[in-house]
Amino acid sequence: MSIETAVTTNMIATFLMVFAYAYLYLQYRHKYLAKWVLAWVLHAIRIFFLERPFIAQSSEYATILYLGFSFAYSLLLVEGAVEFAGKRISKLLLMAGVVAVFFSIGGVLIGANFHFYGLPAVIFIGITYIYTGFIFRDIGVRGLGNSLTAGAFILLGIHTLDMPFLLPIKWFAPWGYLMDALLRCLVAFGIIFIYFEKVRNDLANQEKYYRLLTENATDVIYRYRLTGAMGFEYISPAVKMLTGYEAGDLKSIRDVLRIIHPEDRRKIKGIIRTLSNNDGFVSFRLRQKTGDFVWAEQKSSLFFDPEGRPSTVDGIVRDVTKRVLLEQDVARLDRLNIAGQMAANLAHEVRNPLTTVRGYLQLMGSRQEFHHFKDQFFMLLGELDRTNGIITEYLSLSKDKLVDIRRRSLNDIIQALYPLIQTDAVVSKIEVRLSLAKTPELYLDDKEIKQLLLNLTRNAIEAMPDGGLLEIATSSAGGEVILTVSDQGSGIPQVILQNLGKPFLTTKGGGTGLGMAICYRIAGRHNAKLDIETGQAGTTISIRFRKQ
Ligand code: ADP
Ligand code: MG
Repeated sequence: MSIETAVTTNMIATFLMVFAYAYLYLQYRHKYLAKWVLAWVLHAIRIFFLERPFIAQSSEYATILYLGFSFAYSLLLVEGAVEFAGKRISKLLLMAGVVAVFFSIGGVLIGANFHFYGLPAVIFIGITYIYTGFIFRDIGVRGLGNSLTAGAFILLGIHTLDMPFLLPIKWFAPWGYLMDALLRCLVAFGIIFIYFEKVRNDLANQEKYYRLLTENATDVIYRYRLTGAMGFEYISPAVKMLTGYEAGDLKSIRDVLRIIHPEDRRKIKGIIRTLSNNDGFVSFRLRQKTGDFVWAEQKSSLFFDPEGRPSTVDGIVRDVTKRVLLEQDVARLDRLNIAGQMAANLAHEVRNPLTTVRGYLQLMGSRQEFHHFKDQFFMLLGELDRTNGIITEYLSLSKDKLVDIRRRSLNDIIQALYPLIQTDAVVSKIEVRLSLAKTPELYLDDKEIKQLLLNLTRNAIEAMPDGGLLEIATSSAGGEVILTVSDQGSGIPQVILQNLGKPFLTTKGGGTGLGMAICYRIAGRHNAKLDIETGQAGTTISIRFRKQ
């Protein structure tokens, strides 16, 4: 075989490599791919323009160029490899390169023979190849590409090192070139293999990472398939927290609709039917496995297949119960304030004419001609005063008054209010019993505790339309002073009990639904706890004050 054929083959192999790498670079735009392209281009140019003259021992300049290209080519190759592997090039190798360049080019310039100037270049390039081979050997991804590239580089290095000894053997030279070409081809293919293995690996890692994110997110992430076998393709495990059901329990949209609150179902069905609202948020209630309802908010996006048909819906569902409840509370508080304000205005308007009426009654009662009606006048005035008293109580409630907390006896307050409660109760044939134990003084707001007692006793009285026993008791246990108001009514309905304390919750025709809300507030302001025990035999409400 002629040396021309061998060199041409080597060149063709190199050009093929340039194309392969240039293609990869255009696809992925990695810097190390650009370095490899440049390396192979330099190698091709070196062979195409300089190899022949070099073989023929042509001019000095051609030799220097040839050497320069060789150094640049091998450095770029190793640079790319190092970058690809995420490592740093060894300083020692770079220094060796500088020394080798110095000796090689210097040798050519002073006209030394091939063995003097060729050797440093050959040794440096050979070692570079071997070094690169080792880099590829312990790159992250292990596979065929690794072994192939590492092996080919190491062999290429050894083959380069043997060149000075084998080149003079005339018959071997073409085979040497062919071997060189073959090893370069192996390197090129090996790197392409590694490259794909790495890309696949990175992708798998990335998928693992995203999976980790979705599996551990507190929001529920899902994908719903709209074509073929319709149904959920994926639901993240957070669904257990949101609904109490496992992802596997929810197979299709029907399973989800079943646990959506009946009032929200129509809205959600509408969205599903028209596949609209795919960019907006929608909130709805979900019934958990335990039967409790939670507020959920979801955002979803619709995806299309290449033919433009809807293919999947991807969405995120989040538990927003806390936020919704807070919003509702704020709204209720607002209403409560407005109601309080209105009550205050009303009370004021009523009190003014009452004052006038009382004034005239008093005036007329003192006249001689009405002497016979003295008792009736007295009673009328008394009733007016009672009305006034009640209005005052309500007024004190609606005002944002400063709490007038002082050390007082709870029993004294109860006793002071007893006549009023008694009057209320007598009408409904209810017996009121006080059983007051000796209790230490507490920090109390007199008016507020009266209000609390009035609200509780009024509820108790209203709960016993056919009469019964109303008991107001105090006791002292542990670190607490306990006030209890018990009745023998029919108990608080379960639905009401769950929501008791929310304003405007009432089962009574003329009720305001404010009484218990106010009780909770007052208890809260006194750092007391309100407990309820209720059943068919009656209701006991206890307020537990902490001893101070
Ligand atoms: P209102 O008395 O104006 O209805 P409340 O806040 O005082 O408002 O009470 C709310 C509801 O709680 C009542 O409508 C009633 O259904 C229930 N409730 C409160 N106390 C009792 C009780 N002692 N026995 C039975 N039901 C009660
Ligand atoms: Mg009430």
